[in-house]
Amino acid sequence: MKLIFEKHKEGRRGFTQAKPDVPETKGLDGKYMRKSAPRLASVSELDVIRHYSGLSRLNYSVDTNFYPLGSCTMKYNPKFTERIASLEGFTDVHPLLPQLSGGGMLAQGSLEVLYEAERLLSEITGMSAFTMQPLAGAHGELTGAMLIAAYHKANGARRKYVIVPDSSHGTNPASAAIAGYEVIVIKTGPDGYMDLEEYKKKLNKDVAAVMLTCPDTLGLFNPRIKEIADMAHGVGALMYYDGANLNAMLGKCRPGDIGFDVIHINLHKTFATPHGGGGPGSGPVGVGEKLIEFLPISRVIRRSDGTFALDYHCHKTIGYIAPFYGNFGVILKAYAYMLCLGREGLVEAAEAAVLGANYCRARLKAYYDLPFDKICMHECVFSASRQAKHGVHAIDIAKYLIDKGFHPPTVYFPMIVKEALMIEPTETESKETLDEFIEVMIEIARLAEENPSLVTQAPIHMPVKRLDETKAAREPNLRFR
Ligand SMILES: *Cc1c(COP(=O)(O)O)cnc(C)c1O
Repeated sequence: MKLIFEKHKEGRRGFTQAKPDVPETKGLDGKYMRKSAPRLASVSELDVIRHYSGLSRLNYSVDTNFYPLGSCTMKYNPKFTERIASLEGFTDVHPLLPQLSGGGMLAQGSLEVLYEAERLLSEITGMSAFTMQPLAGAHGELTGAMLIAAYHKANGARRKYVIVPDSSHGTNPASAAIAGYEVIVIKTGPDGYMDLEEYKKKLNKDVAAVMLTCPDTLGLFNPRIKEIADMAHGVGALMYYDGANLNAMLGKCRPGDIGFDVIHINLHKTFATPHGGGGPGSGPVGVGEKLIEFLPISRVIRRSDGTFALDYHCHKTIGYIAPFYGNFGVILKAYAYMLCLGREGLVEAAEAAVLGANYCRARLKAYYDLPFDKICMHECVFSASRQAKHGVHAIDIAKYLIDKGFHPPTVYFPMIVKEALMIEPTETESKETLDEFIEVMIEIARLAEENPSLVTQAPIHMPVKRLDETKAAREPNLRFR
């Protein structure tokens, strides 16, 4: 497809203004005037409409096709939440309003949403309180690591290390490091769980926290999670829960009951708000009782007369971590989603997500290597190593799936699985859709043995064919000259 600049024709116009019928005034001082006209494409209105309509049809989204991108929870985002988020009462609130004298009374509805969303999340996760401010999961992790540091500092011990398993999402060690910790990585044992012997060896009074994803990025729920938490608490370390995979355990078990002290949730994953392409996220951080006093400002409180207000009087707070109140629109949509599904709906969502992943796992395991062959939670991780022997790698499988109208699964993550294919179907997909996807995966496995070049040449039906991805990363060409 051509760039809009390539459609440029000198003198072509989309829109012209009538000549002014009043004398022109000299407005801006000459030094503020640009010396040359902006280099925009001269195109007609129809050119513009065709160009952008064409681009929008190349867009791949949950609304158009199946999107089993493991760990990202690309479930369908119901449209009623958009409707609610576009109500004027929400969209017209100025962010400074609640801080103005008397202004809080004009923002009661929005403050109530923040307050109630926090209450529901606390109930779902078994935590005592949340900050709704973090703007993504990774931002929540950093907030959590800062809370952990503040907690230990208040208790007179700095502590040096954060333990993470080698299956963890890259943001976990990164967040711990940015918060000033050294990271200890524990390897995964042959059973797919964090090696407990190594964990016991590394755990000591210098460990500030143990950061775990549960179920983990292999899609497995560690049956000894409580024991791991108890051991950490035994040396005074805190337990951090990466809640990106909470989708699998909604209404089934709660991180707070397992013993996690600090958690983040990805509202944009589990609670169905649109995400991807860097779009707005929300990563509320929940804490147990003993960490509440460190939470970021401001916090929404409910006064004795039932009205809501913002509280800034927390002298042990870690301070501001985001402007205003977080990604309010995302929180609002997640809140609407929780209310709509209710207790039964959330449990059903988790059950269907787990069922779908296990269905894919069971139907594909004869064709792809399954490094950890056991019941999985909301996602299953295969390895394409059998296909790689024929020259068909995970990346080739991903490209072939694109040709067939599917978004690829997450590939090459978790990093401990060679040629990883991480499939997360999510609860919103029908059995028919899963079957179509599975059939293509089986076709790929057959082609890998019989005619691998058909897979390695893919995609052939896309406007952009095989790219040199290394070159694209090393020498990005991002500007039209
Ligand atoms: C998505 C994800 C994160 C990071 O969340 P963002 O909202 O993308 O910053 C962290 N951990 C896991 C396991 C994830 O899947």
